[in-house]
Amino acid sequence: MTDTLIVGGGTAGCVLAARLSEDPNHTVRLLEAGPLWTTPDAIPAALRDATRLPLAADASWLWHYPVRLTDRGGTTNIVRGKVFGGSSAVNGSYFVRATGADFAAWAAAVESSRCWSSDAVLPAYRRSENDRDFGAQPWHGQSGPIPVRRTANPAPVSAEFAAACAVEGFPAVADMNAPDGTGDGVGLVPCNTEAGRRVSTAACYLLPVAARPNLAVHGSVSVVRILFRGTDAVGVEVLRDGRVETFSADRIVLSAGAIESAAILQRSGIGPAEHLRALDIPIVHPAPVGGWCTDHPEIGLEYRLSVPECAAVPLEYVLTIDDIEIRPYTVPFTPGQWRLGVALMRPESAGVLRLRSADPAVPPAIEYRYLAAEHDRTRLRAAVATATEIIRKMGATACTDPMPGPPHAADDWLHANLATSQHLSGTCRMGPANDDRAVVDELCRVHGVDGLSVVDLSVVPVPLSRGPQATTVMIAENVAGFPVR
Ligand SMILES: Cc1cc2nc3c(=O)[nH]c(=O)nc-3n(C[C@H](O)[C@H](O)[C@H](O)COP(=O)(O)OP(=O)(O)OC[C@H]3O[C@@H](n4cnc5c(N)ncnc54)[C@H](O)[C@@H]3O)c2cc1C
Repeated sequence: MTDTLIVGGGTAGCVLAARLSEDPNHTVRLLEAGPLWTTPDAIPAALRDATRLPLAADASWLWHYPVRLTDRGGTTNIVRGKVFGGSSAVNGSYFVRATGADFAAWAAAVESSRCWSSDAVLPAYRRSENDRDFGAQPWHGQSGPIPVRRTANPAPVSAEFAAACAVEGFPAVADMNAPDGTGDGVGLVPCNTEAGRRVSTAACYLLPVAARPNLAVHGSVSVVRILFRGTDAVGVEVLRDGRVETFSADRIVLSAGAIESAAILQRSGIGPAEHLRALDIPIVHPAPVGGWCTDHPEIGLEYRLSVPECAAVPLEYVLTIDDIEIRPYTVPFTPGQWRLGVALMRPESAGVLRLRSADPAVPPAIEYRYLAAEHDRTRLRAAVATATEIIRKMGATACTDPMPGPPHAADDWLHANLATSQHLSGTCRMGPANDDRAVVDELCRVHGVDGLSVVDLSVVPVPLSRGPQATTVMIAENVAGFPVR
């Protein structure tokens, strides 16, 4: 019998498998839908190159999901990594911690500061990293698996952006991951890269320990549902090479990401009762799975600037202004044009995720409901105005049609230019048992059943003011130190 079975060898799953298997008396089994490459050098070059996003439409290492961004619009597509390392294996390598204010809100949401206050999570952030610029500090680690560094020679487009921000009077932030580095200003982005290579959690946590005798790692295995005896989770049903198999374990942990962890729970009978009944899914425990989720709505402003292109991580600098990030991407999305991403980091509008079918091959319906709140539209209008001024100060030529002045017309413009940062979280919210939006408790155990936890970005109960990758790693590091059941 396996002690802990982890579903999903993604960003969080690789961290958890590596940490839990440090105890030779604890057996761990890790199941991942994507392929397994057993050494870092065997990972395809496109996944290793940190200067490009490996998101080709036909890439075998991606999940694709149609989503609706607003109640007005049609569908657009988002992706996730389907490979060991998960989305950390395909992402932009931005590795920035959430802020003190985020953790104050998180601790308030769970009505406890025991596990998720700033002070409580700092050791887990420190354990994860080897900060190559700042070394060991009270707030930085130097011996963790993830190399973290800021660029020493910014690309010309990044340098022009930073100079324009200085002209606009924004202060420079020396270390975005320091406790005093979370205020407004422009800072170099900490990245999880090594010599131009993307360092996923598979590369730096899992592969170095994959040969441990108490750790079993399986690729190309898709988990269909969790198996219960009463309300005790006792195993999983999987598809491997087109055949149905089962694995049993003492404790099951879902680390399949905010989309698939919620979908697996619902398929297994843990979700909104009426909805599950409509899909003929037997109910194990009614729960608000997928009833709330959040992400970072983003507007892209294209511009021309005659500076040379050069190999760089997609984002070297970021300007933060309260709940806004302005991102000067170094990778052109349209030939001959650069892009400023303008993202709202703490939107009030929230989305929902629901199964469309009990068939695992049918992706769930994801409704973002972006721009529903007047607050979000007001903040984005202001942010676009600031970003437009920065483009002007850079001496660049704007290519995107300008946002009209009148708020109503400006809102139409926001709808027309809207995208998402692909940071979905919160589908299995953390909170106390009496919170009617909560799915897991503060130790990440699913309410109402035994032997089942969710450990990934699904559990975060508040919008995060920064990109979520570093915080996903922190969640797994933190939970690895919690009592086993
Ligand atoms: C293109 C892109 C760029 C991004 N850039 C950044 C960035 O630069 N910085 C940042 O902070 N954030 C970024 N993000 C977001 C960030 O990478 C993710 O939010 C974070 O990595 C999520 O981690 P996770 O562990 O929750 O899920 P994932 O890392 O997605 O892991 C889930 C894993 O579970 C596996 N899985 C799913 N279902 C099953 C199943 N049924 N059976 C078995 N296995 C299953 C998946 O294949 C995957 O490996 C980006 C995201 C994307 C998509």
